[in-house]
Amino acid sequence: MPTARLYIVATPIGNLEDVTLRALRILKEVRFIAAEDTRRTKKLLNAYGIRTPLVSLYDQTERSRTPSLIRRLLDGQDVAYVADAGTPGISDPGYILVNGAIEAGISVVPIPGPTASIAALSVSGLPMHRFLFAGFLPNRSSARRRFLESLKEEAGTLLFYESPGRLQESVRDMAVVLGNRMAVVARELTKLHEEILRGTLDALLEQLSGREVKGEVVVLVGGHPGAGRDVSDESILLALEEARRGGLLSSRDLAAEVSRRLGVPKKKAYELIVRTADESDLS
Ligand code: SAM
Repeated sequence: MPTARLYIVATPIGNLEDVTLRALRILKEVRFIAAEDTRRTKKLLNAYGIRTPLVSLYDQTERSRTPSLIRRLLDGQDVAYVADAGTPGISDPGYILVNGAIEAGISVVPIPGPTASIAALSVSGLPMHRFLFAGFLPNRSSARRRFLESLKEEAGTLLFYESPGRLQESVRDMAVVLGNRMAVVARELTKLHEEILRGTLDALLEQLSGREVKGEVVVLVGGHPGAGRDVSDESILLALEEARRGGLLSSRDLAAEVSRRLGVPKKKAYELIVRTADESDLS
C-alpha cells in the first residue's frame, strides 16, 4: 500500500485571507505542488512565505502529466494539487488526477475551502436544502436553451458559472426557458467590487441592460416552482423547528417562512403545524 498522499487543496476565490491553516500547512509540507497556473499559485505562496516547488498541470496537460505525478506519489512523495481558484475539479482540472490516484491505490485527501457556487448560494436567499450545480452553460444560444430545458423540472436551486460577456444573453435564455423565477447574480465574491443582485430573471435582465459587466459571476435560479410539493413532512418539520428557534411564533408566520425556505405551498406547511399541534394535544 503506497504511503504518500495526494492532497486536493481548495484555495481563495479572490481574497487571499480565505485559506485555511491546514491548507497552508499542507502546502508547506508536501514535496511539491501541482498547480493549474503556477504564476497565480506563486502569489498565494509568496503571501504566506511558502517555498515548496511548483509544477504545472492544467486542462490540456492533465491527462499526459497524471502518470508522472502518480509515479512520484508511488515513490513516496506527497503531492498537493491546487486549481487557479476555489476547489479543484469544480469546473477546473482535478478529476483525471484524482481518478489516477484512486486506481493506483493512493490516498486522496480533501483539504476543503472556498468554492464560488457555494459561497454564492450561502448568501443568495434562495432555498438551500436542495440544489444542482450545473457548471458553465454552453456558448451557443440553441445549445444553451436545450441544456436549460433539461433542467426545467429540477426542484432544487440551480447554480451556474458564467462569463461576464455572456451574462445578459444567458439570463435572457433562462427567463425564456425556465420562466420568470427568482434569481441571483453574485459577482466578484470576496473581492473589492463584490456585488449581489437579487430579483426575478426579468428584473435582473433590466438591471443588467446597458451595463458592461466585469469580473467573475455565479448565477443562481430558483428551482421548479411546483416541485416543493415533493418535500417530505420530516423536512418541513425540521424547517419549522428551525424557524421557531429563529423566533417566529405565529402559525401563519411559520408557514410563510417554511414555504419561502423550502418552496412548499404555504397551505401544506400550515396544515402540518395544525396536525402536529393536535397530535401533541392528544398525547
Ligand atoms: N474551481 C472554482 C470554484 O471552486 O468555484 C471555479 C473555477 S471556474 C474555472 C471559474 C468560474 O467560477 C468563474 O467563471 C465564475 O463563474 C466562478 N467564480 C470564481 N471565482 C468567483 C468569484 N470570486 N466571484 C464570482 N464567481 C466566481
